[in-house]
Amino acid sequence: MSNAMILARDSSAEQIAALRAQYPGRILGWFASTDITRPDAGDLLTRAVKAGAIGLGELKSHVAAAGPELRRVYALAAELSVPVLVHFQEVPHTATEGTFATGFKEFEAVLKAYPRTKFIGHADAFWANISADYANESAYPAGKIKAGGITDKLLGDYPNLFADLSANSGNNALSRDPEFTPGFLKRHESKLIFGSDCACTDGKGGGISQAGNPAAARLAGKCVARETLTILRNILTPASFRKLTWENAHRVYKLSAA
Ligand SMILES: [Zn+2]
Repeated sequence: MSNAMILARDSSAEQIAALRAQYPGRILGWFASTDITRPDAGDLLTRAVKAGAIGLGELKSHVAAAGPELRRVYALAAELSVPVLVHFQEVPHTATEGTFATGFKEFEAVLKAYPRTKFIGHADAFWANISADYANESAYPAGKIKAGGITDKLLGDYPNLFADLSANSGNNALSRDPEFTPGFLKRHESKLIFGSDCACTDGKGGGISQAGNPAAARLAGKCVARETLTILRNILTPASFRKLTWENAHRVYKLSAA
């Protein structure tokens, strides 16, 4: 991969500047995250955007997706004219992890309430709901996808919803039912954005890879980015592949480099 868009903390402006100096032209932009339950979260995120962040996220807190903490950030994202990336997860990976931005099944009300906010869906519950029969029973459901899932429907119905293909969750949704995937990619060709979210150190699954998440063992020892890019490359035409891995991100994240 030649370029990156980084998800960082709200205080990362200096670190990003140093990375940009070290790797000229390769870091296209960065998103800022913070603990959104802090009363000053809005100020911290606003400051980050003024310091150069081009989006908010990923937002990963133990709150409801339609709760007051996230609603405050959805409104701020519209005000600052930057997208917001949310981690949706209903099933904890470990005994102590907890859940994040819960209630994705009712997310349509949020999409309606914040039409000027660009939402980027990400993580377990966003991708598990690609299938109409998901009942929050596991983090990464396997097997055939039942048509008419909430994620598929919302991507089709709401111009302010986009999807991040990163991590085991995105890879699982694209790999669990090979008959379903080509149609899904085609339907939402302008809304899907490739992301890696892989912690391997060599692009081949080395280092810790999925070690921190037992539920993602299917990708242990593999590079998530490489696995997902392979799926996309095997299905898509070169023009569509370029949309998902380059053009959509440039448009939605308003990245300047081309
Ligand atoms: Zn996440």
